[in-house]
Amino acid sequence: MPLFGPPVIAQLEAKRDIQGLIKALAHKDPTIRSAAADALGPIRDPMAVEPLAALVYDEDAGVRRAAVRALSARGGIRVVEPMIVALQDKDAGVRGVAAQAVYRRLMMDPDQEARKATAAALGRIRASDAVDPLIKAIQDPDETVRVAAVKSLATIGDVAAVAPLIVLLAREQYRARTTGRSSLTIERAAGQALDALCDENAIEALEEAFIHDDAEVRELAVRRLARIGSPLVAKTLEARLDDENPIIRRSAARGLAELGWKPPSQEVGALYWAALRDWRRCAECGAPAMPLLVGAFPRAEAHERSDILEALVSLGWEPSEPDATAAAFWASKGDWDKCVEVGLPAVEVLDGIVKNAPRWRERAAAAAALHALGQERPAPFARIQLVQHALGVLDADGTEDEKHASLTTFLAEEHQFEPSNKQKVEWCQCGYPSTRVRKGGARELITDLLGFEQSGEDPAIYFCPSCDTRLTAAGTQPS
Ligand SMILES: [Zn+2]
Repeated sequence: MPLFGPPVIAQLEAKRDIQGLIKALAHKDPTIRSAAADALGPIRDPMAVEPLAALVYDEDAGVRRAAVRALSARGGIRVVEPMIVALQDKDAGVRGVAAQAVYRRLMMDPDQEARKATAAALGRIRASDAVDPLIKAIQDPDETVRVAAVKSLATIGDVAAVAPLIVLLAREQYRARTTGRSSLTIERAAGQALDALCDENAIEALEEAFIHDDAEVRELAVRRLARIGSPLVAKTLEARLDDENPIIRRSAARGLAELGWKPPSQEVGALYWAALRDWRRCAECGAPAMPLLVGAFPRAEAHERSDILEALVSLGWEPSEPDATAAAFWASKGDWDKCVEVGLPAVEVLDGIVKNAPRWRERAAAAAALHALGQERPAPFARIQLVQHALGVLDADGTEDEKHASLTTFLAEEHQFEPSNKQKVEWCQCGYPSTRVRKGGARELITDLLGFEQSGEDPAIYFCPSCDTRLTAAGTQPS
């Protein structure tokens, strides 16, 4: 073995001669420099980092590749800068190895400082192929890494980041609302990144966010779109006015409103006002409003139904099909016979009224209609036929005494009280029978004749179906 020959890397490695291997990194023969770098990789000695980092400037591409491999095996904050240099190497092979090292290793480094520095550096060099890894990094567990990734995405300027940034922002806003804790830094960074990215080029990317499951994401996307302030955007938003999803329809309409847009035709106008649930202005658009109003009617909240109904009536509409809309139409006009004529399609509408109508009279009428359709319900009336009869007596012509006499006979026949046992009936302030008083003076509600609401484990609360007064056995109470 020659005394001053080339160092035999395998021997240095076997002896774990780190000083010898580091010295070999400066050998004039590139194959020896490469071999020494490769040998130092798995040893991961901190002393080797600086000399290996210097080799990313080596004149030989093979050496530069070996240096990147060795640094990659070590990871950590100190290798970030040399790796970023290697990412911009003129040799494709070196760039490939560096990309692997950066995206598969450094972006997942256990040290968050290394992850943050990498994310920031990728933006600084505007690494266009870093967009995907940076998008992943905006979900990093460490906030400073997330912020660095967001800022770099803004600098790189690829619209592929738009939808993920909107999702990030939506999550942060959701967190702020539900827990009161959110990161203002993230919100601000994401907002600024979106400001930078959202121009006409981002329209398609924003449309991508329109189909996201989360309504908040869709809202943000539409608002961003509206802010671009280009005629192209108006077209996109307009096309969303008949989206199958009502939230998107409304978001699009709100976006158009923000643009100061005016409907170009009656058809579009009807869609626009329907999306905003302004039924009166929808109806002002004439015939195109009709199918929208009819379509919205069965699904509308009770308080909206009267608006829709009014709009439909103003357009001269009358039901032609025996469907749920017809049932709702007749029900809101109080024509219960016509409602029953509709048949089974009326059941759902009637059930809704029985559960939710603010007036007990309406609930009783709907329950009676259900009964007529053979659909008995256990609540909120125990015996709807008795209620219906009693309300009928109350509403008929005659004096109060005559009505009470008639109702007393009826209640005795129905075994609701026993006159032979000296029981008496007491009446609600409206004249409806509410309470039976036993011989000793004990009072109890005639529950079969009343409407009731059950709340969980608690006993039911009873109401006069005629005047909505809340009733207790001790007497009436203001409702
Ligand atoms: Zn009453």
